[in-house]
Amino acid sequence: MSMTPSEDPPIELSVVVPMRNESLSVSELFDTLLPVLQDTGKSYEILCINDGSTDDTLALLLARQKDEPAIKIVDLSRGFGKEAALTSGIDHAQGAAVVTMDADLQHPPDVIPDFIAKWEEGYEVVYGARRSRTKDGWLKRLTSQGFYAVFNRLSDTKLPPDAGDFRLMDRVVVEALKRLGEHSRFMKGMFAWVGFKQVGVPFECPERQAGESQWSYFKLLRFALDGIFSFSSAPLRLWTWIGTTTAFFALVYAFFLVLRVFIYGRDVPGYASIIVAILFFGGVQLISVGVLGEYIGRIFRETKSRPIYIVKRTYGLDDPKAFPDASPEPGD
Ligand code: UDP
Ligand code: MG
Repeated sequence: MSMTPSEDPPIELSVVVPMRNESLSVSELFDTLLPVLQDTGKSYEILCINDGSTDDTLALLLARQKDEPAIKIVDLSRGFGKEAALTSGIDHAQGAAVVTMDADLQHPPDVIPDFIAKWEEGYEVVYGARRSRTKDGWLKRLTSQGFYAVFNRLSDTKLPPDAGDFRLMDRVVVEALKRLGEHSRFMKGMFAWVGFKQVGVPFECPERQAGESQWSYFKLLRFALDGIFSFSSAPLRLWTWIGTTTAFFALVYAFFLVLRVFIYGRDVPGYASIIVAILFFGGVQLISVGVLGEYIGRIFRETKSRPIYIVKRTYGLDDPKAFPDASPEPGD
């Protein structure tokens, strides 16, 4: 954009990499990524977001930056999670196109030229489509398929099931994305929500290079629920249906009971059916209160409107702003 100082050529390509405790991957990542970027012949920057690493990820990044000024670092004040880290990277990126990828080489850099080719063909979003997930266990594959089926049923925003966070976005998409200020950041959904002309490029997703995935099954479940609650109000409406249906059957049953008293007279037994009914409807009500709680919690978080992340320091970026909505100091 026109803001770029005249000495520097405008950056064509920004690569955003969120990193949390990736000291084992950092050097191999740059060793494979840098040659690929040099071969594209484009001007580029690599934005590494240090998401509260407790190992020496930051030190390794700073050492590497000494001989590679294209490396820029955003050091967050603590771990805000991958989605927030991605957001901060997208906010700070200056390129005409922005690529987001993982640090652990599960997103192979040699796919990036294919992304660029599609972008130059006119696609505004190019996403990496995992070709096979055979390396994931059957349980992970099954739950992931289930999630996409449920999500796409419930939400008006449709997610391509094979798309992850490995993607290229044109500047127009980045600017659109920056306007979504929500704090429950389900990026997969947000990428899909903004629209634009999208295309998938298949790639083979290798095993994690080194270190450990930070996703436990419980975290994945939370993440999946987060996505559904953020992009659909169907779970709320569901209770209207369940309530209406049970009320209808209760009425039919009441009518039947009255009729039976008229025909056979009163009887006393009924303990089992009462207990079952109490327990069942007690459970149903608790679930519905829980669903309400999910949305109220979300409303609570959004109304506090805290920043999505806080930058401790940036390295190699000329704009030292702390976070996107930082209001100017009084008297500035
Ligand atoms: N990551 C992050 N913050 C977190 C968790 C992960 O920035 O709280 C980064 C991590 O360093 C990696 C990417 O997000 O670059 C993907 O993480 P991971 O490999 O653990 O996820 P998976 O590949 O299992 O989905
Ligand atoms: Mg990974």
